[in-house]
Parts: sequence; structure tokens; C-alpha cells
Amino acid sequence: MPEQLVQVENVGKTYTRGGVLETALSEATCSVFPGDRIALVGSSGSGKSTLLHLMGGLDRPTSGRISWPSLGTFERLRPQQLGFVFQMPSLLAQLTAVENVELPLLLGQVEGAEARKAALEALERINLRGIAEKLPEELSGGQAQRVAVARALASRPKLILADEPTGQLDHPTAQHLLDVLLNSLKGSETALVVATHDLAIAERMNKIWHMNHGVLEVVV
Ligand code: ADP
Ligand code: MG
Repeated sequence: MPEQLVQVENVGKTYTRGGVLETALSEATCSVFPGDRIALVGSSGSGKSTLLHLMGGLDRPTSGRISWPSLGTFERLRPQQLGFVFQMPSLLAQLTAVENVELPLLLGQVEGAEARKAALEALERINLRGIAEKLPEELSGGQAQRVAVARALASRPKLILADEPTGQLDHPTAQHLLDVLLNSLKGSETALVVATHDLAIAERMNKIWHMNHGVLEVVV
């Protein structure tokens, strides 16, 4: 069996709000392997973003343990290993689409011309080559979200975590984005975890995880 990209063991996350302790995630256990296509399904507020942020090393658990056996330690996670698509709009307003896509590569020490080439290729893969020079304010919500997907793809990471990447899109556009994303990963060992509450999206994946009030149920 190939080594896990991320391993989540009995992980919990609590928040304190107004002096009250809230459990966003309790005792979650799951693993992602190379080539996985996983849908993380659950209603709003069930804890999907909390789990994805933890798996992406963007947040730390309150209890339990997360490791990235084939990616390295928490401190060493880099865009070349892990790409994240945020639920909220996340493009930098002052940068063009292509500059947004190449930014993680530049921060990951990729040389300028090479970063630009990879960014343009990623936009091409997601059928957005034509808007490369546009600013985020000139893009539709759907286009901006696709640019965020291209940004996650550009570094050809081993793991992509996408938090409701189609949440702002109408149904046909959502399906199209998923087609493009799955196509661009076809035959690759890159694993994909997509949080969604759209069952039509979930059915396109080969594993479904259910989140219910902070409790994760992994169907194998
Ligand atoms: P989902 O992505 O499934 O909508 P979230 O992971 O965003 O769910 O949220 C799970 C629960 O944790 C919710 O009750 C939410 O209000 C709470 N929560 C998430 N982030 C924070 C935070 N930064 N501070 C306080 N509570 C939070
Ligand atoms: Mg969420």
C-alpha cells in the first residue's frame, strides 16, 4: 500500500466563542492516499472547512495528531506538495490572474520565467488562458474561483484540498469546473479532497466521507 499523503488520527478542534466551548470536530480519523478522489460531504457548519484546514496545515488541532508521511513535516509543507482552494474569495486584488497563480510558485523559490510558464499552463488546463492579464475585479465569481483552482494546480502538488470550489457556481458551471479539474488530474497520482454539499459533485469522486455535527464518517 502506498504511503499516506496525510494521516489524521483522533483529531479534535474546539473553539471558544463568548466564553462557550464549541466542538467543531471530534475524534476524526482518516487518511488520504495517492490517486484518491474524495468528496467530503456535510451540511453548512458541520466541520468540513475545519477538517480541510487541519489537513492542509493551515490550522492546528486541539487534540489528536496529524502527519504528512509522504510530504514531510508541518513546517516543510510547500506549494509543490499541497495546493489549497479556499471557500472564500482568495485572489489578491492588486495582482492579475496569472500573477495570482504564480505567486505560490515564486514564494516556493521557483524561478520567475519558469513560474510564469507553469501559471499560464495551469490557466490553460482550466480553460482560462484568455483572462490571464485581467484583475480579479474584472472576473466573474466563477472565473475567480477557477483561477483559485488553477493556482492550486500550478505547482503540480501531490495533494489538492478544495473547500467548496463550486459553492458559488450555478450547476452547469460547477459540473464544468469539476470536469476540467478531474481531467487535468487524469492518470496522475495527485490526490484530491473536495468539500461539497452538492451530491452530484460527490458522485463523481471515488470515495465519500460524511461530516455530521463535527463527526466524520469515512466509508471505505
Ligand atoms: P463547514 O465548512 O462544514 O460549513 P466549519 O468547519 O466552517 O463548517 O465550521 C464548523 C463549526 O465550527 C461551526 O459551528 C462554526 O461556527 C465553528 N467555527 C469554525 N471556525 C471558527 C472560528 N474561527 N471561531 C469560532 N468558531 C468557528
Ligand atoms: Mg466550509
